[in-house]
Amino acid sequence: HCEHNQDALSQQGARETEPAALPHRWSVTDHQRWKASCPQKMPNVFQNLVSCKRVFRELKMLCFFKHENVLSALDILQPPHIDYFEEIYVVTELMQSDLHKIIVSPQPLSSDHAKVFLYQILRGLKYLHSAGILHRDIKPGNLLVNSNCVLKICDFGLARVEETDESRHMTQEVVTQYYRAPEILMGSRHYSNSIDIWSVGCIFAELLGRRILFQAQSPIQQLDLITDLLGTPSMEAMRTACEGARAHILRGPHKQPSLPVLYTLSSQATHEAVHLLCRMLVFDPSKRISAKDALAHPYLDEGRLRYHTCMCKCCYTTSSGRVYTSDFEPVTNPKFDDGFEKNLSSVRQVKEIIHQFILEQQKGSRVPLCINPQSAAFKSFIRKPSSSVDVMYEEQSLVLE
Ligand SMILES: [Zn+2]
Repeated sequence: HCEHNQDALSQQGARETEPAALPHRWSVTDHQRWKASCPQKMPNVFQNLVSCKRVFRELKMLCFFKHENVLSALDILQPPHIDYFEEIYVVTELMQSDLHKIIVSPQPLSSDHAKVFLYQILRGLKYLHSAGILHRDIKPGNLLVNSNCVLKICDFGLARVEETDESRHMTQEVVTQYYRAPEILMGSRHYSNSIDIWSVGCIFAELLGRRILFQAQSPIQQLDLITDLLGTPSMEAMRTACEGARAHILRGPHKQPSLPVLYTLSSQATHEAVHLLCRMLVFDPSKRISAKDALAHPYLDEGRLRYHTCMCKCCYTTSSGRVYTSDFEPVTNPKFDDGFEKNLSSVRQVKEIIHQFILEQQKGSRVPLCINPQSAAFKSFIRKPSSSVDVMYEEQSLVLE
């Protein structure tokens, strides 16, 4: 059926960079990686209804996103006949590293790096939040970075549409502990997109200090480390907390805030940097800064200028100079619609809907991509699924123009 594309994908399997038939570098994110992003082990994406729905939601989101700082699906591999449909392969842009690997590496990070990374994280998050989406697992490992410092938010395995009805309960099984907002640690049954901003604050501090800001052994110790820095929260700030968590805080000693220690994170922790950081690390989620407002902070002016001078795809250079976009931090309209989730009731039904959805995505002029499972390169790719994004980082350093 489509041999030249099979060749191209075989080459990706071997991680060669410029497959002849395709315009960009490609990476195949296989369902092994999706599995790794989900809290429960899924030997098969179609094993139960919960995993089916989660995978479908992530797939829908990856196809919806159109933003330079959010990973999106460039293509989905053509599925086999429904009777043999067990795996989903999504093609995304290839990113060489992630922020976790960069932070723990010996690679020097200047204040320009911190500014341009933070700018892009907030730019992507403003877009996601405008789509009505909570990411719910913002952490350095989910921020992919390539060698010219372009950053993309990835892994939407825990993402969901915001819940506007405050009486509806939301799961607390979200966000990697070190980046988990205090309202989740305190058992709030309802939370907003400000949980993502808390995570960004933790990452900002980690970029400055090159170490995890709140590195605790348990959720209770996590909360204690937060109150060590921010001081004992007011009753007002704890209004949505569960009774047990509030009792834990009130039982302990009354703590004074110790925010000036943030200046000791590094020499890059300037007054402007610490000021913005303190607007993100706010205990009360309703008083925490939004992505949109954070982007208006003067600390990010240089990051914005650098990004749009030589890194973005929204501005361009002509012989008479740079032509800037009219909107540096775009939002999306309409929002992401999760109405498709309402009537999903059985594994077989969701499988059929996903199968149909993938075929619909491919109604273009192109020959659909498919995989050749018989090729040697594909077999070696399948054996090492977890290293799909860390291919070329080791020999490369981050280049800021
Ligand atoms: Zn631009």
